Parts: sequence; structure tokens; C-alpha cells
Amino acid sequence: MNNKDTIHMSIKEFKENGYKVIDWIADYYENIESYPVLSNIKPGELRKNLPKSPPQNGENFNNILSDMNDKIIPGITHWQSPNFFAYFPCNATGPAILGDLLSSGLGVQGMLWASSPACTELESHVLDWLVDMLRLPKKFKSTTSGGGVIQDTASSATLCALIAAREKISNGKINESGFDDSMRVYTSIEAHSSIEKAVKIAGIGSKNLRLIEVDQNFAMDPIKLREAINNDINNGKTPAFVCATIGTTSSTAIDPLKEIGKICDEFGIWLHVDAAMAGSTSICPEYQFINDGIEYADSYCFNPHKFLLTNFDCSCLYISDKEALIKSLTINPEYLKTEVSDLDTVFDYRDWQVPLGRRFRALKLWSVIRYYGISGIQSHIRVHIKAAKILSDLIMQDNRFEIMAPTVLNLVCFRYKASDQFNTLLLNKLNKSGALYLVHTKLNNKYTIRFSIGQTNTTEEHVVNAWKFILKTTEGMEKDGIK
Ligand SMILES: *Cc1c(COP(=O)(O)O)cnc(C)c1O
Repeated sequence: MNNKDTIHMSIKEFKENGYKVIDWIADYYENIESYPVLSNIKPGELRKNLPKSPPQNGENFNNILSDMNDKIIPGITHWQSPNFFAYFPCNATGPAILGDLLSSGLGVQGMLWASSPACTELESHVLDWLVDMLRLPKKFKSTTSGGGVIQDTASSATLCALIAAREKISNGKINESGFDDSMRVYTSIEAHSSIEKAVKIAGIGSKNLRLIEVDQNFAMDPIKLREAINNDINNGKTPAFVCATIGTTSSTAIDPLKEIGKICDEFGIWLHVDAAMAGSTSICPEYQFINDGIEYADSYCFNPHKFLLTNFDCSCLYISDKEALIKSLTINPEYLKTEVSDLDTVFDYRDWQVPLGRRFRALKLWSVIRYYGISGIQSHIRVHIKAAKILSDLIMQDNRFEIMAPTVLNLVCFRYKASDQFNTLLLNKLNKSGALYLVHTKLNNKYTIRFSIGQTNTTEEHVVNAWKFILKTTEGMEKDGIK
């Protein structure tokens, strides 16, 4: 066993290797722009280079680190490259990585307040801070009838909100009786696919999901929403849940929350707001307009792992009636009963999420908020929204291209004025080059390239250089006579 007197890593060895790992990560960030942004390995290529069987006897940790360079890195798509403009960003930062490392080091499991009080209390505290930072309604604070909780992803947050709404509208009956075919859920045709997934998981059924049409800016049309609700009521159905989006994934469209909220209020429908990407921007006063009408929301979620400098995974869910959520998810077997939970004076966060166990995610968020401060986070967001504006202006000045949706925040949607085929080929060429990574969507049924800005180290220069590269690649295609 490597001549060790224990099978475990000694403190001395842990320190030596720990410093090496930090150095490895630092070197990775230093050299990140030298890698092709999109991994170009073939399916199965990584596994071919790994031994068929696990080692019988333990190995030196150095072997693992050297395999990171030789075997793992070629199969990495570099989400932390400043030239990563695909999907939405997935921020990583020094303070978040270190906060997460502390969490790994402590290795606590915070399912109950009593199973590690700091895990629960820091989470409630940081989430209350965020209510003020993002200027969310006070009803989301843990000191009121509401509160916030960290989930892994927005998909889970939306599912939990839906389950709470389902429970509330059925007066607690659904948990007992199971499936109910009468409920209806509404979201726009531009909403994220996680809404449909939640509807399926919650047993409401995808046929009971109404996809509402959007206006010319891809935002939900509240008149169409009202029509759908009235229609369902006339057919004996129960409108239960509306999910509005602040910042859709295709084009960062912002649904008219005020009008939607008034309709939900009138019919007693739960309003959930999915602000996964865009939510973080309301930390800047000038982007607070995105929250117009948020006072109508019964629940709200946004992802610090997208635009608030915090490593994946970290999604914040707020709810104005925490009782509804807890009632819908609580289970209390004998082995989980504790004196304090019985006193009803503390949160047991296992009742706020699908799994029982939970990591100490608040540490990385706390670390980020303290390290950057409000002003640091604001300037980070401003740099990227400004870069998006500059890019959008550059594209508009070139009449070979068209902008496909308003550039509201950090996403620019555009296409070369030619066939979908041309644009598909252009995107493939760009991504194959390794210089940058972009993905596409369809807007008004046309193939559209999405340029999403938000990786921590992306600067205006990266964006302008990427645009120059897009132009050069396009001109090469024009020369080749591709139409
Ligand atoms: C990214 C995104 C989601 C899904 O995020 P996960 O956290 O990966 O589940 C949902 N809604 C919107 C608007 C998004 O941009």
C-alpha cells in the first residue's frame, strides 16, 4: 500500500497535494485561452485511453494530476474560457472555488438545522441579503411568512414551486390522492424546457401545459393568457400555475409581469417567476426594471451560477408562503426527528427541496458576496452588458447581418442574411476553429446565432475580437460562393 501505514492520505500528504491542486487550477486559468474552447474529441475517445479495470492497489495522487493534463483536459469544453459565448455563462471565480473547497473540507450534510446549524443559518442569512441586493419583495425574507433556499438548479426550483402550488390549490389533497387531471399550467412558447419537465414530474401531465403565444419581442402576450385561462375555466379545469420568465433562454425576452400578475391575482393562480439568467442583473439600479411587477410573484428563482460569479451549482428559490412549500414536501420519519425541529423555531431545509441531503452551498455564495461586495458584482455585470451593446451596434452597422431580438442584457441574437444552411455552416466553422464557442436558437422560425456574454474573464476586447473572427469567417464563405 505505497509503504504507508494507513490507507488514508496523511495530513502532510494532503497539504503537499492540496498546494499542487491549487497550482494546477491556477495554471489552468493562466493558459485557458490556448485550448480550443469546444472540445474536439470523438465519442468514446476518452474512455479508450482509460484502463479497463480500476486499480487493485492505491496509486500516488501525482498520477491523477498528470492524467488531468493528458486524458481529461482534451475532453473539456472550456466553460471558463473568456471566449465561451455559448448557452448562458456558468461563472466560476476564485472566491467561489475557495468557498466550495471549504464546503468540501467540512463535508457536512445540512438536511436539518440540527445536522449542522451553520449550514442552515448561513443559507437563510445570505438569501435574505440577496433579497435586498436584488431589490426583491420583502415577503421573500425568511423573517416573514416567506423565505429563500438554495437548490441545485432552476429546474429543481421550478419543480418545487409547482409542487407547492399544486398542494396549496388542492388544499393538501394532492399529496394523498396523487394524480389530478384537472389542473392547468401556463407559460409562454419561449419559456425554458424545465417548465414542461416539472409539469411531467409533478403528475400534472404535459397535455395540461398551455403554451401562450408571444409578442414581437418574444414576451408572453397577457391577452392570450387570459383567453386560455377563461377557456379552461369554461371547460371545468382549474388554472393552477403560471410561470413567467424574466430573460428567456433564446433571446432574454422579459414577460410583462405586472399584467400577468394582475391576471393571476384575479383568478387566484400561483405566479412563479423564472429569472435563472437575468435575475442577477437587478443588483444594478439601471436593470431593476426587469422586476417590474415582481410584487405579484408567489415564487421566484434565479441562478447565481449563471451571472453572479458563483460556481455551479447554485440556484436561489424564494417563496412568499413557505408553509405551502414545506407542507408539500415534508416527511418526518422517526430517525429524523430532533428536539429543535419540533419546536418549530428553525428551518429544516430538507422540507424545501426534493432530496433529503444537501451540501453547504451557502459558503461559496457568502464568499463571493463578501469578496466582491455589491459594487464589485455590479461592475462585473455592467462590463458584460456594455460589451453586448457594443457587439449589437457593430452587427447593426453591417447590413449583411440582422439582429433577431432586442439586446436587452448580455445576449445578442443575430444571423447572416442568407439561408439557414449558410448560418449553420458558419456556426460549425466558428466552433470547429476552437477560437470561440457559440450555439444557435430559432427565432421567428429562422436559424439564429446566440452570442452570450458573461464568463468572468471576458472583456470588451474578447468580444470585439470574436466579432472580427466571425466577419473573417463569413467573408471566407462569401468568397467560396456559399449562399
Ligand atoms: C438556464 C435556464 C434554466 C435552467 O437552468 P438550470 O439551473 O440548469 O435548471 C431555466 N430557465 C431559464 C430562463 C434559463 O435561462
